[in-house]
Amino acid sequence: MTTTPPPQPAPRTGRRVLLASPRGWCAGVDRAVHTVEKALEQYGPPIYVRHEIVHNKHVVQNLQKKGAVFVDETAEVPEGSIVVFSAHGVAPAVHTEAAERRLATIDATCPLVTKVHREAVRYAQQDYDILLIGHEGHEEVIGTSGEAPDHITLVDGPDDVANLNVRDETKVIWLSQTTLSVDETMATVNALKTRFPHLTSPPSDDICYATQNRQTAVKELAERTELVLVVGSKNSSNSARMVEVARAAGAPAAHLVDFAHEIDDAWLENVTTVGLTSGASAPDTLVDGVLQWLAERGYDDVETLTTAEESITFALPHELRRNLR
Ligand code: SF4
Repeated sequence: MTTTPPPQPAPRTGRRVLLASPRGWCAGVDRAVHTVEKALEQYGPPIYVRHEIVHNKHVVQNLQKKGAVFVDETAEVPEGSIVVFSAHGVAPAVHTEAAERRLATIDATCPLVTKVHREAVRYAQQDYDILLIGHEGHEEVIGTSGEAPDHITLVDGPDDVANLNVRDETKVIWLSQTTLSVDETMATVNALKTRFPHLTSPPSDDICYATQNRQTAVKELAERTELVLVVGSKNSSNSARMVEVARAAGAPAAHLVDFAHEIDDAWLENVTTVGLTSGASAPDTLVDGVLQWLAERGYDDVETLTTAEESITFALPHELRRNLR
């Protein structure tokens, strides 16, 4: 009599994914995207949005399909229309221009960016020279600088410090963009402190909780995995910083991808554990796409690495409660 051998379990590859938590959408991005969706629902298309509402291709394309029209400048918005200002914030001059064009505005600036704007206004009123650490040309930096252009000087890294001039070395404060690398910013602050020993620090962190938490998590991934993948768009400051932070923390390789199809199979050579996370503007559906792509290649064992808990939420802009059309 012959017996049928029992089915053998599939050979274990040992390949796995370490998934960061927290990752992805922060409270400010969630608020900004819901603001545009709610405006479309409430007032109907078109709803104009000045600049990308958040720096993510997928989010922008989805909103375009629903009737959002993205413009670079307020001047492109037809008079009398509704325009949403993005999460990165705008200078007061943009509000003035919108009022001149009789636009109904909805301000989706993240409250944590607004906090930095208020600090800039307060210290400018006290006649401080404000050294704003940030990346030249980034929308957030342009918006914050516009609050007090005569008092703010941009500092784009430690190399800028030697050339700075201030009016009174005892009345100088540093502020920063919300989405910078924490470690690089501290290197710039240390250089500033050496140059200006009386330098005042902001009353609380300008780099926001979401940026800090995602960087802490990606450092852990860098130590435990052979490849770190960050889901996010190239123009997303906090996503780009996460890749840099991973590399600085010793990740053998780290890449930024918008979508799963951008991953190169060659990156997986000799990789047993992949670290996966996403920037503050990337929705989790894109992470799910990457998880599926990895599972198809044997990386189907997924473990979550939790480094912080997040519970912050922001109320939608009050303008949505008004009849704008
Ligand atoms: Fe606000 Fe930070 Fe999110 Fe930017 S990354 S929208 S500052 S919470």
